[in-house]
Amino acid sequence: MGHEFCGVVVDPGDSNFSIGDRVTFWANLSCGTCDMCRMGKEHLCRNVHGTNYIGFVCNGAYAEYFVGRSQNAYKLPDSVSDVAAGLIDPLMVPTTRSGSPA
Ligand SMILES: [Zn+2]
Repeated sequence: MGHEFCGVVVDPGDSNFSIGDRVTFWANLSCGTCDMCRMGKEHLCRNVHGTNYIGFVCNGAYAEYFVGRSQNAYKLPDSVSDVAAGLIDPLMVPTTRSGSPA
């Protein structure tokens, strides 16, 4: 559970985020180094072996706190509500992170 979500940063670590930033999260994890990732097709990453979708095959953000990689997080503008932010992930499905068709 907890596949499509948004939240507030409480510990930015070494990322460029600040405490209090509202973020949504690309729940597809990938290695970033295999040929598919380098082509912008992270959803077909060869190194995650079917364990890449947060909230499907591993625990998601249906919890008080969630820890994730900052490169998968996107800062939300104030004009995007929490409910609308939950729709960002499904809208990313037909495209890759680079914006090209999957
Ligand atoms: Zn990969």
